Amino acid sequence: MSAMLEVEGLEVFYGASQALFGVSLQVREGSAVALMGRNGMGKTTTIHAVCRMLPVRAGSIRFEGSDITALPSYRAARRGIGLVPEGRRCFPNLTVTENLTAAARPGDWSLARVREFFPRLAERSGQLASTLSGGEQQMLAIGRALMTNPRLLVLDEATEGLAPVIRREIWTAIRALRAEGLSILLVDKTLSEILPVADDCVILERGRDVWRGAPGEITEQIKHDYLGL
Ligand code: ATP
Repeated sequence: MSAMLEVEGLEVFYGASQALFGVSLQVREGSAVALMGRNGMGKTTTIHAVCRMLPVRAGSIRFEGSDITALPSYRAARRGIGLVPEGRRCFPNLTVTENLTAAARPGDWSLARVREFFPRLAERSGQLASTLSGGEQQMLAIGRALMTNPRLLVLDEATEGLAPVIRREIWTAIRALRAEGLSILLVDKTLSEILPVADDCVILERGRDVWRGAPGEITEQIKHDYLGL
């Protein structure tokens, strides 16, 4: 069976500077794939290309059987690719509820369901997003992506800079989404947190995918060579 997301030989440039040199990866339906690598190795670039926020110079992106390589980002989103961007960007001057409803598309994830999933967002309904804590903003960013009823959820460093107790809450939420069969592509630097969630791992090194395998196959040597640990 073909994968839900099939990225093949992706090459992406920023101006004259090449960031990806042929990245391939697959996300099978209902699985979670961890995209790993040290700083600046191309994780965010890969994710932005998949979400169609960057032009692709060579290679292809197929999503649920269709070629989406040249699609604009709003159409990729409409197809069901939901991004939770790095830095948990929300509309600061809108309330929690306004942020959520602005993203809404029909499906199982309604405002009521997102509030049930993140009770803190229910408690903060009328508050401006700018007044939320970092962890609450991250919940809101995930809630917004869920409100689009994505088929594939893409998370870029969802726990970066958050306190341990909040990180655990976010990881619990991601595990719950994974358990209910949502397909997930995620980037995170903390192996002890990302590996238990992942079915497959892809490691990037200077814009190339240099290793792929199951979390249990990552040896100390691989951690040393590619993850700087
Ligand atoms: P990090 O973990 O630090 O977020 P990353 O693995 O996500 O890193 P990318 O942000 O994808 O890496 O960066 C890949 C390469 O592309 C780096 O060399 C980076 O300097 C370069 N790059 C990223 N964004 C831009 C940009 N807007 N303009 C020019 N070069 C960029």
